[in-house]
Amino acid sequence: VVDPSQLGDILARIHRDLAPLTAKGKPATYIPELAKVDPSRFGIAVALIDGTVHTVGDAAEPFSIQSISKIFGLTLALGRVGEGLWARVGREPSGSRFNSIVQLEQEHGRPRNPFINAGAIVVTDVIAEGHEPRETLGELVTFVRFLSGAADIVIDSAVAASEKSTGHANFALAHFLKAHGNLTGAPERVLGVYFHQCALAMSCAQLARAGLFLASAGRNPVTRYTIVSPLRARRINALMMSCGLYDASGDFAFRVGLPAKSGVGGGILAIVPGVGTIAVWSPGLDATGSSLVGTLALEQLAAAMNWSVFSG
Ligand code: GLN
Repeated sequence: VVDPSQLGDILARIHRDLAPLTAKGKPATYIPELAKVDPSRFGIAVALIDGTVHTVGDAAEPFSIQSISKIFGLTLALGRVGEGLWARVGREPSGSRFNSIVQLEQEHGRPRNPFINAGAIVVTDVIAEGHEPRETLGELVTFVRFLSGAADIVIDSAVAASEKSTGHANFALAHFLKAHGNLTGAPERVLGVYFHQCALAMSCAQLARAGLFLASAGRNPVTRYTIVSPLRARRINALMMSCGLYDASGDFAFRVGLPAKSGVGGGILAIVPGVGTIAVWSPGLDATGSSLVGTLALEQLAAAMNWSVFSG
C-alpha cells in the first residue's frame, strides 16, 4: 500500500492530467437544471479513516448528488424494515439503463436492485410510508448532515422542480410499480420525495466524509457513532460493487475495483474498505450516465494507491 503522504501529489497530478478531458463527457440534459452546470468543474476528495481529508480542484463546491443519494435512502430503509426490504427489491445487477422499464414488466414489478431508479423509488416508498413528505426529507437531510458533519447541506429545490417537470420516465416507473402492488404511497407523492432526495446538494469533501461509515465496518471513524452493523456495511458495499454503476458496474469493477455509486450530476462516491472513501465530481457523463472523467480519475487513483478490494 502506498504511503498516504503521497496522496496530495498524486491527486494534483491526476487532476492536472484529466482536467483537459472534462469537455469529452456530456452533462445530463433531461433534467434541465443540470444542463446549466459548468462542465469544466472537476473536484476530488479523499477521506481517510484517520479523519484526514485530502482534496484537489472543486472539491468544496456543492453539486447535485442525484443517484448517490440512493445509498443514504437504502441505509435508512434497511434501518426501517430490515431484511424485509428484499421481498420488494432484488439484489442483482440489471444490465440495463438506470431508468429502464422493460425488465420491470418481465419481473412483475419487483425491481432488480435498489440502485436503479425503479428500485430506488420502492426504497423511497418504504421510508416515506406513514410520514408527511417534508418529514421524510427532513430525516434525509438530518442524516446526511450527521454523517458528514456539515450542518449546511440542503436540497436544491430548483433541481427537484426541474426533474419533476421532465420526469415522465420516473412517473411511468412509479405507476407501473403501483399497478403491480409494489408501491404503498401515491406515485406523485413518492416521486416528490424521490426527486427532492436526488436534489441533495453536497460537495466532494462532504460526500467523502458521509461515506466513511461504509469504509469502517458501519461506524463513522471520526465521530465514532455506529451507523449500521458491520454485516450491513459489507452488504451495502457489495450492492454498490454489483449495481452502483448500472449497466457499467462490471466494467467499473474491472477498471477500478472498488464499490461505488454514481449520479447523473457527475458525482461518484467510491469506498476503499478499511482505508477511506473517494468522492469525485465532473459533470460530463459517459454513455451509461456516469461521470466520464470521474471514472478515469478513480481508475488512476486506485491504481496509483494500489486500492482495490480484489488485491491480495
Ligand atoms: N434523479 C435522477 C433520475 O431519476 C437520478 C438518476 C441518476 O443519477 N442516475 O433520473
